[in-house]
Amino acid sequence: MQVKGLKEAMGHQRNLDPDCLFCRWIRAGKAVETLGTVAAFNDGYPVTAGHLLIVPLRHTADGFSMTAQEVCDSEALIRTLSEKISRSDLSVTGFNIGMNIGESAGQTVFHAHIHLIPRRDGDCANPKGGVRGVIDGKRCY
Ligand code: 5GP
Ligand code: ZN
Repeated sequence: MQVKGLKEAMGHQRNLDPDCLFCRWIRAGKAVETLGTVAAFNDGYPVTAGHLLIVPLRHTADGFSMTAQEVCDSEALIRTLSEKISRSDLSVTGFNIGMNIGESAGQTVFHAHIHLIPRRDGDCANPKGGVRGVIDGKRCY
């Protein structure tokens, strides 16, 4: 019988998927912060400096399949991280928080995650409408 390594055994417990980018980040210990059932990772292609992804520590496809505990831990981690970012980077004056659920809505990695995007005065010409920008041309109203 093959004896599993500790990391592999932990991965199995959490239902990690070796083909999933975020599962590989979890397994590789790339989290910048963890809280209970979730962890935060630096986004590889940040929209702004400090863009983080809040991710359940088990493989699950999207935000709607997160457990109540994962949602609760995510909210607490987002609050902690946003306070930390605001304290350490005084240029940060706002945040966008959001989830893409389903390919039609722009989801590209099918492991649930919440984007936490720090915003700064003047980081774009006209920030009006924020997350309304998911449809080109519909942000400003
Ligand atoms: P989604 O589009 O699914 O809401 O978000 C996926 C996030 O994962 C994106 O913001 C993107 O920057 C990040 N991402 C996707 N592919 C890669 C990758 O290959 N490497 C890294 N470091 N980040 C990625
Ligand atoms: Zn995964």
